[in-house]
Amino acid sequence: MYKKIGILGGLSPESTSTYYNHIIQEYAKRYSDYNYPEIIIYSVNFQEFIDWQNQERWDLAANKMIEVFNVLEKAGANFGLIATNTMHIVLDKVQSEISIPILSIIESTAEVINQEKIKTIGLLGTIFTMSRDFYKQGLEKNGIATLVPENNEQELLNKIIFQELTKGIITPQSKAEYIKIINKLKTRGADGIVLGCTEIPLLVSGEDCAIRLYDTTRIHAEKALNFATNSL
Ligand code: GLU
Repeated sequence: MYKKIGILGGLSPESTSTYYNHIIQEYAKRYSDYNYPEIIIYSVNFQEFIDWQNQERWDLAANKMIEVFNVLEKAGANFGLIATNTMHIVLDKVQSEISIPILSIIESTAEVINQEKIKTIGLLGTIFTMSRDFYKQGLEKNGIATLVPENNEQELLNKIIFQELTKGIITPQSKAEYIKIINKLKTRGADGIVLGCTEIPLLVSGEDCAIRLYDTTRIHAEKALNFATNSL
């Protein structure tokens, strides 16, 4: 019997569906049978979280997340995922109040970066992920140094995430802006780029850039599959 996966999703729905599809497709690729691990998704109200983020009410967001994981645990989940990078800002608080383990997207990504012996990465994500310390510190703890885009570039990346990607809007102009900023980070010394927002892989992929991109959505989904099946 595999462990049951509980996903706090909806941040945004566009990337939550990638988690679901990727876990299932990756399972099928590895095992070629229909014994998929069970998955429970609790899709939250995105607007509520956007408001809490903008008002810096991390306490209210954490309370809601604790409530969600308690529901997922009651429904039978053996472990949980927060299917967004940004909300890992309250991971420690949430984990301290619930009894099932949450697999961190930051730790999962750091593991892959370290396997590839990359020491300096460029970080793209929401303004919170790029400008606050939680993500950089999480990587630093694993021996990885982080470069972030300039302030005006952070504003632009953030705007594209919230006004376009989370609504499923993909434009060549925004893709070009992302690639320009990725190339600048490479020039500044990054050896890899962490796509530290679960919607960015909808816009850019490995073929678009001459640098290793770390797709945190897929890395996190695969970590969940490994944990659920106990393999690796
Ligand atoms: N999915 C995004 C992330 O990975 C942002 C959405 C949110 O605000 O949580 O950070």
